[in-house]
Order: sequence, then structure tokens, then C-alpha cells
Amino acid sequence: MLQVRNFIEGRFVDGAERLPLISPATGASYGELADSSKADVEAAVSAAERAFAAWSQTAAEQRSRVLLAIADGIESELERFAEAEAIDTGKPLNLARTVDIPRAVKNFRFFATAILHQQGEAHFTDRAALNYTLRQPLGVAGLISPWNLPLYLLSWKVAPALAAGCTAVAKPSELTPVTAQLLGEVCQRVGLPDGVLNIVHGRGALAGAALVADPRVPALSFTGGTQTGREIAEVAAPMFKHLALELGGKNPTIIFADADLDQALETAVRASFANQGQICLCGSRLFVERPIYDRFVARFVERTRELVVGDPLDSATEVGALISAAHRDKVQRYVMLAKDSGGRVLCGGMTPRGLSERVKNGFYFLPTVVADLDEFSPVNQEEVFGPLVSVMPFADEEQVVAAANCTPYGLSASVWTQNLARAHRVAGALACGTVWINCWLLRDLRVPFGGTKQSGVGREGGLEALRFFCETKNVCLSTEQA
Ligand code: NDP
Repeated sequence: MLQVRNFIEGRFVDGAERLPLISPATGASYGELADSSKADVEAAVSAAERAFAAWSQTAAEQRSRVLLAIADGIESELERFAEAEAIDTGKPLNLARTVDIPRAVKNFRFFATAILHQQGEAHFTDRAALNYTLRQPLGVAGLISPWNLPLYLLSWKVAPALAAGCTAVAKPSELTPVTAQLLGEVCQRVGLPDGVLNIVHGRGALAGAALVADPRVPALSFTGGTQTGREIAEVAAPMFKHLALELGGKNPTIIFADADLDQALETAVRASFANQGQICLCGSRLFVERPIYDRFVARFVERTRELVVGDPLDSATEVGALISAAHRDKVQRYVMLAKDSGGRVLCGGMTPRGLSERVKNGFYFLPTVVADLDEFSPVNQEEVFGPLVSVMPFADEEQVVAAANCTPYGLSASVWTQNLARAHRVAGALACGTVWINCWLLRDLRVPFGGTKQSGVGREGGLEALRFFCETKNVCLSTEQA
């Protein structure tokens, strides 16, 4: 049986207790993970503290070399990582193999090479002084990540933290710890100095909370639900910790009548149901301009019905299992709520029939489309984070911008039109952190990434991420006496 252990000071060690690991695809237990106590977390923070002095002084070129070796190490075992991720999460193996794991490799490569090309800032103040800015690594970074893209989102935090010269304690989701364990093995193999990256497993409310509250951890990067983010902020703010919160979303996909409808259709289906709708950037509200509404929605529903739901290890599968029975039941409850609010289920709305013997007890739910709900209905206001999309017609640009902006969230949007002026206007008017025009999920790692409103604060990605893990210090040197 698989045993997931903590990775502290370069060694795999047991936590205080153990928790079962459940496969979403089959519903069966396939291993155990460490259920870390406060003392386990404190040991990890102590190890990171000890490692900080040397790592923060290690030349950028050497830090870069080690991070590139980590990227190579993951890439050389891509299939093993992808299988672990598919088993942990229930997502299609194909998706893990082609998107999640390769993108994690890219994250390490991006930050490993970014630190070789950083520029400093210096300013002459008339003839009186030279001002320059030092950016010095903060110390131990606390990195807390969710279950939907476990390795990708973990690497998005680990890579910039280590590249910037911080050491780290990571707490992955208790539901999906296995790729983090494989990452620890790679770090061991490529010679990352002991204590630079430590990984503690276990429950968020215990291990995660201990990490957040530890005064020796000055920077916290968290990706997860809005409510958890709020609780973390309440603990961290009085200690004035550096805080990056990447939280929930309720993202609109907006299709104007002049869009390339074939392309819009394919991408809207992917944006709705990729990873079973469990990506913070998935579009869960589909707004379609009235003249094309009936035709487009009919095609959208037809295409959704064609998605192959089933065993994540089957190469034909496009939609796998949801993360847990509790999460599947939550999606089911939102379908009931949609019906109670006057909504019409156009497809899905239930668990699939005819699953293979191996996966018949897994946590599956059919991709679901509902119609006839207004933008203020709870299904259109609250994050479901599953394969449930609500379609709504709109009359004009002004109306759709107002409807798109009327949730407490503001993470991303995808807008489809061939009118360039309108595309720019709408992008400017939408209240969110990222707007895709005629595309979705295209990434450039140099751009700052994050949300507005209850989707979070702070930005990750690019230089912003490297700066997040640093203290900024200005030095003003008088040149008059020199
Ligand atoms: P949670 O907020 O439940 O958990 C996220 C992480 O925080 C997990 O590791 C969890 O541990 C831990 N945690 C839970 N409670 C605490 C606490 N009190 N103190 C410290 N850590 C804690 O989110 P989910 O894992 O359910 O992830 C889904 C959410 O993540 C969705 O809302 C989604 O929108 C959001 N998300 C946002 C993204 C963005 O970039 N904006 C990207 C991806 C997801 P454990 O699981 O062990 O309880």
C-alpha cells in the first residue's frame, strides 16, 4: 500500500498520525498519508530556517542549475507523475500527461532562468545621491495548494520561492499528496540542499493552520477556496505577513453574435468542462448574444452530450471523476437548487450510467448545462467548482458587462467577438484579473496572474512572483561627500 510521508530536511519521515488516501476514480482506498501535527510543521519550519542562511547566499547561477535539474527530473519521469496525478485526482490521464505535468516542468524552467536575467534599479538624485534597491529573500515561505492541479499549482509556488532565495514549507491538499511526494524524491536525487524544500502533509485545519500561524514564516502563498483564504488572512494580517491569495472564481464566457462560432463552441465546451469543471479559471456562466442564443446553445448541449465520461486511465476519456463523494454531492445539490429556482436542465444533471466495473463506485457526474436562471440566482453567484454551466442570453454589450460583473468574484473571463474595438472595450470594463479574447487558458508565464474582489489579492507569475518572496530595501548613498 502506498505510504505518503513528510519530506523534512531531505528525508522522508512519518507524521504524527495517518489518513487514508481515497481514489476518486474507484472510491477505494489505495494508500495512506501523513496526518501532520503542529510539532511536525514546526520541525519542517525549523529545517527551512536552518537551510535559509546558505541557500539565500547561494549564487543565482547555482540555484538556477538545481531548479533546472528538478525540471529535468520531473520530465524524465513524466509518465510516472502523470499516472500519480490521475489516480490522486480522478482527472483523465491524458490531461495530466499533456497539460498538468508539462506545465509544472515549465514553471521550474521559467523561474530557474528568470533569475539569471533580473535587472536592478538605481537612480541618481541630481548630484546628491545614488539610490539603489535591494531585493532580499524573506526567509521561510509557507506554500499551501489545492487538489485540482496539485503539482502544477505547487510548482507555481515552489519554483519562484526557491528561485528568489527563500526556503519553503509546502502543505499540499490532503486529498492529492502523491505528486508532491514524487517531487520530494526528485529534489533528493538532484541534490537540492537539505531543508530548502520541506513538504508536510495532512489536514488544512491542523497542518495548514499551524503553518499559517507560525511567526517564523513571513510569506504565505495560498491557492484555494475564498472562505479558507479569509481565515488565513485573519491570522496572517496581524503578523503583517506577505500574503498572496489565489481564490475562487465564477467566470463568464461571453459569445457575441459576430464571433467565429465553431471556434467559440469548441473552446467554450473545454472552458466549461476541462478537469471536470474543477479549474478556478473554468467558465461556469455562458452568456450568448440573443440572435444566436438558441442555435448556439443547441450546439453547445449537443457537444457536451458527446463528451466521454469514465475511467481516467482510459485513453478515450474526456471527463473523469470529481475529487470526492462530498464534492459530487455538492454539484448535485446545485442542480436541485437550479431546478428549485426555475432553471431547466438541458443535459446531464445526474451521475452517469454504464460505468465499467473498475470505476462503478467512483465519484462521477455528467457534464451539466442549465438554462433560464437569471444572473442573480445562487447558481450564478456561488462557486460550484464542478461540471455545471449556466447559459444566459444577453441583448447588448452594456447588459452583458453588468451581468458578468455582478458576482462577488473577479478571476477571469473569455470574450468572443471579431470586433476589435469591442473586444478592447469589454476587456477594460470587466472586473477581473485576466481576460482572454477569442481564446481560453493561454498562458504566458511573464504576465502577473491573480484575481480581484473575492478571487484574491496579490499577483503571482513573472517578476511579481519573485518580488513577492523578497523584502525591498532602498539604499541611498550620498555622493556629495564621496
Ligand atoms: P481549500 O480552501 O479547501 O483548500 C486549499 C488548501 O488549503 C488545501 O491544502 C487545504 O488543506 C488547505 N487548508 C484548508 N483549511 C486551511 C486552514 N484553515 N489553514 C491553512 N490551510 C488550510 O480549497 P480546495 O482544496 O477545495 O480547492 C478548491 C478551491 O481552490 C476552489 O475554490 C478554487 O476556485 C480555488 N482555486 C483557485 C485558483 C486560483 O488561482 N485563483 C486555482 C485553483 C483553485 P486540505 O485539503 O488538506 O484541507
